[in-house]
Amino acid sequence: MSEVPDSEFELKADLVFLAMGFVSPVQQVLDAFGVQKDPRGNVRAATEGEGAYQTSNPKLFAAGDMRRGQSLVVWAIREGRQCARSVDEFLMGSSVLPR
Ligand SMILES: Cc1cc2nc3c(=O)[nH]c(=O)nc-3n(C[C@H](O)[C@H](O)[C@H](O)COP(=O)(O)OP(=O)(O)OC[C@H]3O[C@@H](n4cnc5c(N)ncnc54)[C@H](O)[C@@H]3O)c2cc1C
Repeated sequence: MSEVPDSEFELKADLVFLAMGFVSPVQQVLDAFGVQKDPRGNVRAATEGEGAYQTSNPKLFAAGDMRRGQSLVVWAIREGRQCARSVDEFLMGSSVLPR
């Protein structure tokens, strides 16, 4: 996002909700963990195979908007479930959680 000079205007309102989003994850957080990112600034992690949802830091996993970018709740749920299984496999060596 970038500010457009001289584009400001005023609207009368009793109440204002800011429904803001659809931007990349907070970069400072990702940088603090030192994880690799994709070209859109999301956390890089594959969804298939061994180490699914694992980031470049093997002890960090990412799913949902953080990994795939701005998307839908159904994708966040799917990725969260699959990621949980992957974390379980990482910690326990195997998992009975559904994928
Ligand atoms: C305005 C708007 C409208 C949308 N409308 C729809 C819609 O109609 N239908 C639809 O399917 N999808 C919609 N979406 C998309 C949907 O909300 C997201 O795809 C979904 O919520 C992503 O889920 P998530 O769990 O990946 O991330 P999030 O729901 O963003 O969850 C991430 C969580 O991490 C927390 N968090 C962040 N930083 C930290 C930190 N440092 N420490 C601890 N916690 C932290 C946050 O507070 C948040 O609770 C909309 C999104 C927006 C912004």
